[in-house]
Amino acid sequence: MSDKNIFQRIIDREIPAKILYEDDQCLAFPDINPQAPTHVLIIPKKAIAAISDLAPGDEMLVGHMFQVIRALANKLGLTGGYRVVANCGPDAGQAVPHLHFHLLGGRAMNWPPG
Ligand code: AMP
Repeated sequence: MSDKNIFQRIIDREIPAKILYEDDQCLAFPDINPQAPTHVLIIPKKAIAAISDLAPGDEMLVGHMFQVIRALANKLGLTGGYRVVANCGPDAGQAVPHLHFHLLGGRAMNWPPG
C-alpha cells in the first residue's frame, strides 16, 4: 500500500482522474463527491500539505493557481459567480494532506459555511 496521499497518486497517474486542466505547476479535476453542479479541485504538483505549509517563494505558484481558477470558472461557464474554498487542518475538515482549492459553482451558496 502506497503511503502517498490520494492527490499525489493522481499527479503520478497511479489512480485515474478526469484532468480538466494541467500545466507544469498544477492540475485540476472534478471532485469525486461534488457539493455543487460544478465542483473542481485545483492542486499544485509541488508537495505542499496545506496553506499552513506554504513557504517563502510559493507566492508565484499560489497566484498562478488563482489565475487557473479564474480561467476555469470562465471555461466552465460560471457566469453567476463561484466560491473558492481551501480547508486547512483538522478544524476546517481538511481530509487530504495536499494543498487544494475547491472551485464550486452552478448554484447559489449559503453563508456562513458550516
Ligand atoms: P478537503 O476536505 O478539503 O481535504 O477535500 C478533499 C476533497 O477531495 C473532498 O471533497 C473529496 O470528495 C475529494 N476527493 C477525494 N478523493 C478524490 C478522488 N480520487 N478524486 C477526486 N476527488 C477526490
